[in-house]
Amino acid sequence: MSSHALKIERGADGIVVATMDLPGHSMNLLNDELAIPLGGLADLLESDAGVTGLILTSGKKDFLAGADVDRLRRLSGAQEAFDESMRFKGFMRRLEKSGKPVVAVIQGMCLGGGLEIAMGCHWRIVVDDGKARLGLPEVKLGLLPGGGGTQRLPRLVGMQQAVQWMMEGTEVRAAQALSSGLVNELAPSRDEAMARARAWIAANKKPVQPWDGPKFRFPGGDSRSPAVVQMLAIAPSVAAAKSWGNYPALTHIMSSVFEGGLTDIDRGLEIESRYFAACAESPASKNLIGTLWYQLNAIKKGASRPAGVARSEVKKLGILGAGMMGAGIAYVSAKAGIEVVLLDTSQDAADKGKGYSKDILDKAVKKGKSTADQRDALLARITPTTDYARLKGCDLVIEAVFEDRAIKADVTQKAEAQLEASAVFASNTSTLPITGLAEASARPGNFIGLHFFSPVDKMPLVEIIVGAKTSPETLARGFDYVLQIAKTPIVVNDSRGFFTSRVFATYVMEGLAMLAEGVHPRSIEVAGLQAGMPMPPLALQDEVSLSLGVHVADQTRKDLAAAGIAYKEHPGERVLRRVCELGRVGKKAGRGFYDYDGGDKSLWPGLADLYPVKANEQPEQRELIDRMMFAQANETARCLEEGVLRSVADANIGSIFGWGFAPFQGGALQFINSRGLPEFVARSRELAARYGERFAPAALLVKMAEKGERFDEGQPAG
Ligand code: NAD
Repeated sequence: MSSHALKIERGADGIVVATMDLPGHSMNLLNDELAIPLGGLADLLESDAGVTGLILTSGKKDFLAGADVDRLRRLSGAQEAFDESMRFKGFMRRLEKSGKPVVAVIQGMCLGGGLEIAMGCHWRIVVDDGKARLGLPEVKLGLLPGGGGTQRLPRLVGMQQAVQWMMEGTEVRAAQALSSGLVNELAPSRDEAMARARAWIAANKKPVQPWDGPKFRFPGGDSRSPAVVQMLAIAPSVAAAKSWGNYPALTHIMSSVFEGGLTDIDRGLEIESRYFAACAESPASKNLIGTLWYQLNAIKKGASRPAGVARSEVKKLGILGAGMMGAGIAYVSAKAGIEVVLLDTSQDAADKGKGYSKDILDKAVKKGKSTADQRDALLARITPTTDYARLKGCDLVIEAVFEDRAIKADVTQKAEAQLEASAVFASNTSTLPITGLAEASARPGNFIGLHFFSPVDKMPLVEIIVGAKTSPETLARGFDYVLQIAKTPIVVNDSRGFFTSRVFATYVMEGLAMLAEGVHPRSIEVAGLQAGMPMPPLALQDEVSLSLGVHVADQTRKDLAAAGIAYKEHPGERVLRRVCELGRVGKKAGRGFYDYDGGDKSLWPGLADLYPVKANEQPEQRELIDRMMFAQANETARCLEEGVLRSVADANIGSIFGWGFAPFQGGALQFINSRGLPEFVARSRELAARYGERFAPAALLVKMAEKGERFDEGQPAG
């Protein structure tokens, strides 16, 4: 009964070794090709008296990385989702009740459905080579673990731990998996793990799962125990406070665990499938899967990369400016194994930039996340200097000096003098159009924008900006570098504010405009959070600093005037200027829209004098939320219409990874799909009539609505 995906070997001792090895895939996943033969294992154990036990393992470097998302995507309706989830669990239940020992030998990643299968085995042994990661990350796609995870995990590690891991999608390493009770043994090698699996089978001829035993108790107590009751009384409100009810999977996970903890495993598994169906049907999950699975994977596979250019790798990188951004770029690049030359105007400044990496690494060593050797090796790859000659041999140079055209032009020319003709020169400017900066370059074809986000080591996105003269080869090389440092690239055409800064500003500015209209600042801030944004608009403007906002506005006015283009002032700009003029320039200064006192902050009471609240005319929260979200979505559609954006996937991923656009909405264009194009256009017109032309729907949307079209939503291939 061996199949291509599941190799079955039977020894003279009657022990069957089933090795998962899905052909044509680098990782095992639970598609039919693998799931059907796995189901057959239950028949084998039940019907063949000669079989004495089963070892389930993987022929790949990972055990099993999760469910088949394509299959999830094709589910239509709650009943199908429920049935599918029950079917998957049926064979595991049969295995664990077969009366014969079943052992999982786990290596590498054991996630989602992989861990659910492993938990359905009687004994779990992990190959402890530093690579094991176990977890149930379904929540990240708006789902709950529907393969028994919400039932078996709490029965193994306790309800509190289980709820926490599943709500955060935590991946645990071998040592913690053992100490928590998730697995039973660690083995130093795979051979040793297999030997121990055989020994365990020989010594345990008729194992029963703990939860099938008459004396089973949940570790730490079941749903009736005071500690669990207390935890589950608080956890849902904490989760709701954090997520504003936008992520139903969080409460469904808790409900499934809680209700399962009142009953036996079989009823629990059924309860779980009902909640699974509720999650699978939720718009949040559909949006998350479409964008953060399909569209993200398409980007990573190079959908926005010019075809026909050979893959490249950066070996030596030069960074000009060792300030906040330069230091961060140096760290992430050295981490990826790249040799880095970090240049500044003084040796002190360059050394300080390198010191940034040392601080991060010292902390990691202290926490046990890295070793002193790893730290030293990474630091040895960064050379701080003031000497341009050290840039010789760099295949890429990234400029991150002050946001000043003249300084940028100067360092571009000095660096190019040292570089070979083929080297790429990139600017990390956040506001200056790339085509203009490239005028300082002797080879504008090799000039590109690589826009990083702060803090560089945490932010996953790099916005690649293609100037008027940037060559496809340069773009491909920039793209390859971004993947090399394990970040996600989006590709946009040159324009003021590019894509991310331009659209992000519409969110913040809308909040500021509301203030001028007499909306209570607390309502504005809460609306931002309710909308699903990571930070409310006024607090965000404080973080970015009001002075920077004013500086960018001044620069834009100047540039547009020089180009003879009319400037349209956003009503939020006056608020920005007025508060900034009072010296309230933002968080760094300890005063902005908020007052800062150590770690605490509170809205500045003086706002009430500047912008008296119209107590009797407060709009509904719904109206405020719509304004903030429509402003961003509409501006994103304009970016697509103007050709600033090149793809829907880049728009959605860029909005989520770049400035935290409500992930459950699936990104700024998917938001429009969710509202429905005709609905979005109609509501935009309503908002435009009430608040100004900026809400007038992009022509592209009007056309799409008329034709009944939608934006691509991310689908399984084929
Ligand atoms: P920063 O002030 O922290 O660092 C700039 C560094 O450049 C300083 O160390 C300075 O000494 C150095 N420098 C100045 N002139 C130089 C010269 N002629 N030669 C060599 N080094 C020189 O600024 P930052 O926040 O790191 O920003 C750098 C660039 O990145 C700017 O273009 C900025 O717009 C852009 N950027 C910033 C952010 C952000 O959040 N701060 C985000 C994206 C992009």
